[in-house]
Amino acid sequence: MTQIFDNPADFADEALDGFVAANHGYVARVDGGVVRSTEVPAGQVALVVGGGSGHYPAFAGLVGPGLAAGSACGNMFASPAAGQVYRVAKAANAGGGVLLSYGNYAGDVLHFGQAQLRLNAEGIETRTVLVTDDIASAPAEQIGKRRGIAGDLTVFKIAGAAAEAGLSLDDVERLAVKTNHRTRSLGVAFGGCTLPGADAPLFTVPAGQMSLGLGIHGEPGISEHPMPTASELAALLVSRLLEDKPEDAGTRVVAIVNGLGTVKYDELFLLFGKIEKLLDAAGLTVVEPECGELVTSLDMSGLSLTLLWLDAELEQYWAAPADTPAFRKGNLAPRARRELTGPDEAAAEELEHTTAAAAAVGRLAADLLGQVQHVIIEHEEELGNLDAIAGDGDHGIGMRRGVDAAVAAARHALEQEGGASPSRVLTAAGEAWSERAGGTSGALWGSAVIAAGLALGNRDSYSGGDAAAAATAFVDAITELGKAEAGDKTMVDALLPFRETFLNELDAGTSVADSLAAAAAAAQTAADRTADLRPLKGRARPLAEKSLGHPDPGAVSFALISERIAQHIKAELARPEPATSDKAQAAGQGAQND
Ligand code: ADP
Ligand code: MG
Repeated sequence: MTQIFDNPADFADEALDGFVAANHGYVARVDGGVVRSTEVPAGQVALVVGGGSGHYPAFAGLVGPGLAAGSACGNMFASPAAGQVYRVAKAANAGGGVLLSYGNYAGDVLHFGQAQLRLNAEGIETRTVLVTDDIASAPAEQIGKRRGIAGDLTVFKIAGAAAEAGLSLDDVERLAVKTNHRTRSLGVAFGGCTLPGADAPLFTVPAGQMSLGLGIHGEPGISEHPMPTASELAALLVSRLLEDKPEDAGTRVVAIVNGLGTVKYDELFLLFGKIEKLLDAAGLTVVEPECGELVTSLDMSGLSLTLLWLDAELEQYWAAPADTPAFRKGNLAPRARRELTGPDEAAAEELEHTTAAAAAVGRLAADLLGQVQHVIIEHEEELGNLDAIAGDGDHGIGMRRGVDAAVAAARHALEQEGGASPSRVLTAAGEAWSERAGGTSGALWGSAVIAAGLALGNRDSYSGGDAAAAATAFVDAITELGKAEAGDKTMVDALLPFRETFLNELDAGTSVADSLAAAAAAAQTAADRTADLRPLKGRARPLAEKSLGHPDPGAVSFALISERIAQHIKAELARPEPATSDKAQAAGQGAQND
């Protein structure tokens, strides 16, 4: 039971504040998480880790020299929002690029992925290495689908040591990938954890039973077994991991026995002793092992075993010193404290000089978001009902929450003296969208809005080519992050025909307004046709049969939105007052072609 809090809703935030207060020598709070409070040599690669809260020492406890440069800290067991990851990575970046590394969970992939797109677009070279060590979560042939559990530590440690040694981003990434490929974990649970304020654990295991293949977010195991003796448990964990060993495995391994929250250290040590003997009997040499709490799940009763098969290079970085609040190894020279720019200075630094053309497009972008909001309000219920057929019924409310936040953020951005560029308006709007909407579509819409904004930038003039670039960036962001393809029955089925029609029409010399109208019609037709498809991505996939005969909610909402935007642009361009001429130009080649 988690019992120390004032308000359960503030648990993660207040715990993080207290963690920073207790570890000033290591970490400083930034908006979205923590970064090192000590000097980072210029040009060093910044390893940025993160995920939900409730896993201490993962992830904030692993920030310090020789390990992570920063950690993005989400709510309890919830991914940090893309904006949080972005801000932590920006604060952690020392000019050598950023490696994002985290456990493979859908929400984290979307949010970290969105942050990566944005960092790269701003010229901060950013890569990602997902941790996929949990052998219970997918078969060996589908290693990329596995979840990340305590294997986080081996990947972070080796990447962090490589960064500390001054290696390039390419090399740090390569070592992290190699470590992940050679790391395997398996866990068992004896009881689930209880979220702050909840009155029951997320799952229970019947007395005298053990659940094999635990997750670290209260996911129950995949099978239940009678509670074994310590020797039997050690044999089970070791044999399963050895069966799954990587192809090029050698004989030197790191072994990590990890407690999930309430298993006593004495018990972990007892088990470790037996595991070490079994590994030795299997001809393996255990190198610099760990035994303790390294990746937890609040007060969960359970433990896991992780093995990393070393080679000479990995062993060197595993053994290298590290100095963080929760993980210390060897000796590192003391580091000077660094001056972090306060939030006010950071904001002042970001003040842009908006060009007149950009200010007009920025206003137009905010207007268009207002139109999106209207159309979503009108169809909120219908979209929810459609999502309830095979999904979870939240598409209407999710879109509504996202667009409400986006409109508010866009209007706030426009309050700046001299207006705001589409880049500024849409990055603020997209960030707010994905932060508030929750759900898959919210993260994807948020990223797409940001990507369109970055494509539009803050330029001296705008033409039809910019509208094409914005549409392309919008669609690319969604396909890159969501990885859905045509025919998977997602919004992508409406997005692709929309973009294709829009670009073809523009190429053929059609005005922006008419091209948009044609593209919106294509999106509508395509959205209707999704009724014939079975969902292959997203939450509706398990209920594929139920979804047959009904269109995909995300495709329908996109078609509705594109139609409304096309109408609005047409009306704007038709308006005679001079004030609209810059908007007309802003909207693309309207000025030339209409
Ligand atoms: P959630 O699925 O998290 O409940 P929503 O209900 O708001 O989110 O959105 C569901 C819609 O999201 C689906 O109808 C589909 O169009 C879209 N979607 C889901 N997964 C993907 C994906 N991987 N790529 C593109 N779109 C997706
Ligand atoms: Mg849904």
